[in-house]
Amino acid sequence: MRCKTRTVKIGSCLIGGDNPVVVQSMCSTDTRDVDATIAQIKELEAAGCQIARVAIVDSEAAQAIGKIKAGTTIPLVADIHFDYKLALQSLSAGADALRINPGNIGDRKRVQAVVSACREKNIPIRIGVNSGSLDKQMLQRYGAVCAEAMVESAMENIKILEDMDFREIKISLKASSVKLTLEAYRLMASRVDYPLHIGITEAGTKDRALIKSALGLGMLLNEGIGDTIRVSLTGNPVDEVWAAYEILRNLGLSERGVELISCPTCGRCEIDLIPLAEAVDQAVRHMEQPLKVAVMGCVVNGPGEAREADVGIAGGRGFGLLFRSGEIIKKVPAADMFSELLQEINKLTNNK
Ligand code: SF4
Repeated sequence: MRCKTRTVKIGSCLIGGDNPVVVQSMCSTDTRDVDATIAQIKELEAAGCQIARVAIVDSEAAQAIGKIKAGTTIPLVADIHFDYKLALQSLSAGADALRINPGNIGDRKRVQAVVSACREKNIPIRIGVNSGSLDKQMLQRYGAVCAEAMVESAMENIKILEDMDFREIKISLKASSVKLTLEAYRLMASRVDYPLHIGITEAGTKDRALIKSALGLGMLLNEGIGDTIRVSLTGNPVDEVWAAYEILRNLGLSERGVELISCPTCGRCEIDLIPLAEAVDQAVRHMEQPLKVAVMGCVVNGPGEAREADVGIAGGRGFGLLFRSGEIIKKVPAADMFSELLQEINKLTNNK
């Protein structure tokens, strides 16, 4: 069962409560390069990204937010370290949320200025604790990076905001270790009802990051923990969005996109299945409609093994059998398997 959390609003996006888990990503562009950032956010939007975050490194980046927002439609989060002036500038420029740790801003007056500006515009703040940048005091208190230290650090930041009667808060506790991430979020979920932004940080290059994220985020989501997710990987952020939906869909938390069922091949396989499966994968990746597509190596077992697929192809010697919901509907020459299958997919997705 999903953990009960409060709801915060980032632009038009509701996070927490009974709202569906929100998919977000972070731009890898220099925020000051407005055109490049808009272009990347548009790509992210097209992939289904619901919130984009940008790094605010200086005033120019903060001011770019206005122009970026004018060229895009999804809510924008300003990611700031330490400098409260950049937070204020980002808010003036139209940021829909801030990621900043109040404990890093400095004296109370500065925090108050940021909180007042957020309150005025109904803008939430994400407190983001990262295991790699845990503050020295906390490290000394606990002797090493651990879940308790991460949660304690978040709690201190939460208290600063709560003392100012500000509760439009979202929390993240990221680590590159899956086990540490799990422990930290589980502990946090038992302590507060603020919505949780979950992710494995610095998860590595694409394949490695996908495994870590699927494991870490999958386990948390399956326990009902997590209101918004970001898969982080060293690579194109569009892949982060695709991976996020794969994780959500496989847990029954989203219906977006095509599920590809393909067999591992074995001695019964009579077609060159791997390139066919890969070509089908590329062709269906961008599709939003929910559909199960199967690419199977043999006609004997293929259609039956992929009975739950909406549509699929099973390879024979020199031909393929096109099937729907386990029933064979057509025999096609091997050279046409890809195009025939795609035609069938398009028919089904256009009707959805
Ligand atoms: Fe082997 Fe056929 Fe199963 Fe593929 S579908 S693994 S080729 S038995």
